[in-house]
Amino acid sequence: MEQGAKIERGYVCLTCGYALRGLNESGTCPECGKPVQDSLRIALLEESEARHVRRLALGAALAFWPAVAIVLMWIGLIAAEVERLELGAWEYAVVLPVAGFVAGWWLLTTAEPGRADERPSLRVLVRTSLIVSVVTGVLNAAAEGSVAWWNEIASLIADAVLLAALGVCVWAGMRHVRRLASRIPSAFLYKWSVRLSRLGAGWILVALLQLTMELLYDRWLRSQPEAVTQSLALEPMSLAAAGMTTITVLYTLAMLSLYMAVTGVLWRQLRRVKPRAA
Ligand SMILES: [Zn+2]
Repeated sequence: MEQGAKIERGYVCLTCGYALRGLNESGTCPECGKPVQDSLRIALLEESEARHVRRLALGAALAFWPAVAIVLMWIGLIAAEVERLELGAWEYAVVLPVAGFVAGWWLLTTAEPGRADERPSLRVLVRTSLIVSVVTGVLNAAAEGSVAWWNEIASLIADAVLLAALGVCVWAGMRHVRRLASRIPSAFLYKWSVRLSRLGAGWILVALLQLTMELLYDRWLRSQPEAVTQSLALEPMSLAAAGMTTITVLYTLAMLSLYMAVTGVLWRQLRRVKPRAA
């Protein structure tokens, strides 16, 4: 009986994502039956131009490190608020890592020279949602307190648009990373980018629920007589609002941790790709 060699790298089945390491090259995927050879024929990144691979690695570094910085600054800002510190212009320092983060995803979604792109829509979606998040965030920060008609509701809606756009960005960005993972190849990265893309899609729903809850709570609060506000913490409506906020915060933390794990691994693995000399 003729036997092919065993697969020693992190290839994945291109139909179902099954990790093919250890299987026989002449076999079929145990999960979906696709011939293993079909999935091994993918154009690996080591066959790409060295310059393109370096660009991707730099993009991954910028998708990772500035995100770490943003999270640390976010924690710092919350701590400063608790301590009632006046930060002044320092609050605007967050602009730097945000710019780095946007540049990182821009590089990661650059088309490969000389290669037909099967799904340019994913790359376009990542870039569009990035622009929408940044523009909404800047407009909201600029309009607060300086534009007369920009009230609480407008600000909440802007926040929701920003969060939903970030959800779209994570969803599409991770679908893009999944394709890069199959070209590294890395079954590990493939699996976790799929999970994170699902979290990103769920995030859009969580952001919209959070907005709805805040609007309902705001209306309810206005309808209450003064006396009720004394014992507000025990009202079912207050409990529901606090519960929704807790869910949103926990979901955000889970998504951020997974995001940093996936982009950190992507950066490390892209640096290890050794393209053939051009
Ligand atoms: Zn399969």
